[in-house]
Amino acid sequence: MPIATVNPTTGVVERELDAIDEAEVERRIAAAASAVISLSATSFAERATWMRTAADLLEADLEELARLITVEIGRPIAQSRAEVLKCARGMRFYADSAETFLAPEWLTDPSTVGASAAGTRYEPIGVVLAVMPWNFPFWQALRFAAPALMAGNVGLVKHASNVPQAALYLDTLFERAGFPTGSFASLLIPASGVERVLRDPRIAAATLTGSEPAGRSLAAIAGSEVKHVVLELGGSDPFIVMPSADVAGAVSVAVKARTQNSGQSCIAAKRFIVHEDVYDEFLALFKERMAALSVGDPLDEATDVGPLATESGRDELAALVDDAREKGADVAVGGAAPDRPGWFYPPTVIAGVTSEMRLFAEEAFGPVATVSRVADATEAVRLANATTFGLSSAVWTNDPAEEDLFVRSLGAGGVFINGMTVSYPELPFGGVKASGVGRELSAAGIREFCNLKTVWKG
Ligand code: NAP
Repeated sequence: MPIATVNPTTGVVERELDAIDEAEVERRIAAAASAVISLSATSFAERATWMRTAADLLEADLEELARLITVEIGRPIAQSRAEVLKCARGMRFYADSAETFLAPEWLTDPSTVGASAAGTRYEPIGVVLAVMPWNFPFWQALRFAAPALMAGNVGLVKHASNVPQAALYLDTLFERAGFPTGSFASLLIPASGVERVLRDPRIAAATLTGSEPAGRSLAAIAGSEVKHVVLELGGSDPFIVMPSADVAGAVSVAVKARTQNSGQSCIAAKRFIVHEDVYDEFLALFKERMAALSVGDPLDEATDVGPLATESGRDELAALVDDAREKGADVAVGGAAPDRPGWFYPPTVIAGVTSEMRLFAEEAFGPVATVSRVADATEAVRLANATTFGLSSAVWTNDPAEEDLFVRSLGAGGVFINGMTVSYPELPFGGVKASGVGRELSAAGIREFCNLKTVWKG
């Protein structure tokens, strides 16, 4: 894939960049390795000041960055602005809380281990390689960078090839904010260049947010090098609606949960599993609301759903829908790409999906919702868990016993009750099964890339 900004609304190549050569890769890894030493001499307070400055810089560039996101990936402009503001909030969160999250912990009675003092300290591990996706080009990279830098680690980001201008902005952000030279940098390299970097002995660990095949590949290399990895991969999250729920409220949130970022979110609700008592009511309202969304120019403030970010992504989504239709599913809303420039695909609602259809097992990375009818909570759990993914889930119920059943039984990294899955800096984020390994955000996220060092004193 060329490293280029290709506007998804028009299909026009707006900017193409050359990948950096081997000498530049080497120079950047060496600078990162030097920064490990300079960063380790800094205090939490210094890093927090620089992190807050970086957040201020982002906010000062809000309009420019929102427009950049919309031009690079086609996201409706109001959502692009929200992404930038969310980044600033996440950065300030770690500026405020990193020192507390990483405070040393001492045994209250060290004599139990024969010591005068004993406990643990969290120490940085060095240079962490982050392979990042395009779908939230600033948030994905910064939710890695903020805790990593606050912990005293150095970050090297290989960003997705279709968001090079976001990568270039991030390349200088932290140095402009005051962090030591080399603390954070982008590597403009293709996916095929990741292995060489990851095998470099100066790289301590890696994280990848993206598709399952990319995650498996990175993990295999890291495994052979005995390097720690965090993987944030795909999802096909269930959204369960039970009779005790506020069905109209559930529909409003369902529409947003399926179509935010034009449906290209790992934690988007993708499979709507509805109890038979409220199925007809839910489906009728959901179809109406999905059909009413405005699809069009993402720079227009009134647009709800923009184009998909890439032509191949649009074509893969269309192939999933066509496969379901050919095998007998009921495509109730949408279901065909419009005849216009750009990589648009309309909000689509499909009922009657069966296990022979690709949509049953594969992630639909676009505004395509499947709706299934179930007889009870047990069947809802069975269907929700009938996937290799396990990122998050949403459940709509006002029955405490059902709530407990779902929280215990859903095979996912999160359960959101009477709401949609959202990533918050304060809460851990990550999946189980093929959705990933490890956690980002909260205290758990900053501790992932630390050496939990045991200290014992006789
Ligand atoms: P992708 O193809 O896996 O790309 C993600 C990143 O990995 C890009 O930087 C890409 O580089 C790189 N990459 C691709 N193949 C690689 C390989 N074999 N080795 C090393 N790096 C490789 O993902 P995508 O299709 O663009 O993104 C959508 C996927 O990401 C969806 O499955 C979505 O659910 C998932 N996602 C998950 C989360 C989460 O937090 N769990 C968040 C966002 C997205 P190039 O661009 O140069 O190919």
